[in-house]
Amino acid sequence: MTAEQVCVVGGGLAGIASAVRLLDAGHRVTLVEARAALGGATYSFRRGDLMVDTGQHVFLRCYQQYRELLDRLGSADRAAVQDGFAVPIVRIGVPPHVLASNRRLPAPAHLLPALLRYRPLRLGQRLAAVRAAAALRRIEPDDPAADRVSFGAWLAAHGQDAPTVARLWELICVAALNAPPERASLALAARVFRTGLLDRADAADIGRPTAPLAELHGAPATALLRQRGATVRTGVRVQAISPEGGRFQVSGDGVQLTADGVVLAVPHPQAARLVPAQAAPDRARWARLGAAPIVNVHVHYEQRVTELEFAAGLDTPVQWVFDRTPAGGSGQYLVVSISAAEQVLSVRANDLVRTYLAALAELFPAARRARVRDAFVTREPRATFRQEPGSRTARPPARTRTPGLALAGAWTDTGWPDTMEGAVRSGQHAADVVLAHLGSTSNPPPGTGMTEWSEGISRLSRPGPGDDERSEEMR
Ligand SMILES: Cc1cc2nc3c(=O)[nH]c(=O)nc-3n(C[C@H](O)[C@H](O)[C@H](O)COP(=O)(O)OP(=O)(O)OC[C@H]3O[C@@H](n4cnc5c(N)ncnc54)[C@H](O)[C@@H]3O)c2cc1C
Repeated sequence: MTAEQVCVVGGGLAGIASAVRLLDAGHRVTLVEARAALGGATYSFRRGDLMVDTGQHVFLRCYQQYRELLDRLGSADRAAVQDGFAVPIVRIGVPPHVLASNRRLPAPAHLLPALLRYRPLRLGQRLAAVRAAAALRRIEPDDPAADRVSFGAWLAAHGQDAPTVARLWELICVAALNAPPERASLALAARVFRTGLLDRADAADIGRPTAPLAELHGAPATALLRQRGATVRTGVRVQAISPEGGRFQVSGDGVQLTADGVVLAVPHPQAARLVPAQAAPDRARWARLGAAPIVNVHVHYEQRVTELEFAAGLDTPVQWVFDRTPAGGSGQYLVVSISAAEQVLSVRANDLVRTYLAALAELFPAARRARVRDAFVTREPRATFRQEPGSRTARPPARTRTPGLALAGAWTDTGWPDTMEGAVRSGQHAADVVLAHLGSTSNPPPGTGMTEWSEGISRLSRPGPGDDERSEEMR
């Protein structure tokens, strides 16, 4: 008997994770991606002698499904995970303070020494923070009531004054949820702080790519999927998905495919346009998820200006800064990541570069004397959905009303924030929904997913102008 055909639309982490799961279950898979390469929001481009990620990404040890996917892709060695959570906090004119957990203590006591010794706060504020952390452990991330409240309002109600919020909670909340506490859902904050920091002593160890994201995700995924027999079509934008007699016609850009199941793994605006009306009558509500931007300022110095691999900034425009100097590369390549970047999204690149060169020089005195080889800005206007109170009600489940058609993407209802872990989980879950429809289960022996899908491709096309809002700008 021939295995059923499944089409995965969208080649970000959700689509990649889906395709791997479907192949594992023995199905024939075609993955269709609009861009020239897989990887989705995690992509890189060349600029001079640098490979540049348009957005700096980090992960935590508790991103289990994401880390397992890296293992499957064979790229786990292109990322480094800390042996113990430690974040250097940099301020102007003050030596860095390291906020570090003590892994010898059981959770949540592993964080006590860090909080009690946290120099940017006064002793009373530190004690109040310990009490709030204990209360946060009792918040259930899946409780709908917790999603109706803002994290900021909850912190205020739990004795956190403005400096404590700005100097402690906001540091992590902005980076993890791409929103300041007053605009972040308490449920999603609880997911981050509980799963990441409070429930296990090693969960928050920070992982960082040591290679460009394209080498961590897109390229090895393409290789693995093809080696497992999947058909990977890049530069093909899907325009329509039509259910027909229990199967699906997937068409667009000269492509016409017939599939027994479809995983639609594209961002929510595109998903709302592509999903058949009967499959998701409430799709108009997805628009409520909106978009939140992230901006990165990239500076390549001729000399090293800091020994820190990464740091979070306090009382400076530098939220987080990462050393991305490639192995064997000369000088030092720093990337400043600015989350919840609404205020700077439309600031001219020249002005942003000027502001951040000055801010880096204030933090790292060696930067005042270092020559700048290159400096530029990347902007991701739709980096994540707005992870605000009430957002969960706009996130659809994987299962649609049309059997055999499932939704995936970090924006779907994973219970996780818009992260790489959420994307991978969503993809796996959507694959399971399609597998249940096809009468299969996940994880039979690998190596059974050969494809012989006949399809009519008359033309391969890349996304047209205006399709891609992500941009690189010269200084
Ligand atoms: C700047 C930035 C920084 C981030 N930092 C972090 C971080 O530090 N840690 C973290 O965990 N997460 C981070 N994220 C979020 C993370 O990147 C996303 O949650 C995740 O990559 C989303 O994956 P996805 O597969 O759901 O969606 P996407 O990656 O958006 O993939 C969707 C794919 O669908 C394709 N597509 C769209 N329409 C069509 C069509 N019609 N036909 C075919 N293909 C189509 C798109 O081209 C795209 O490749 C960051 C995101 C950005 C932008």
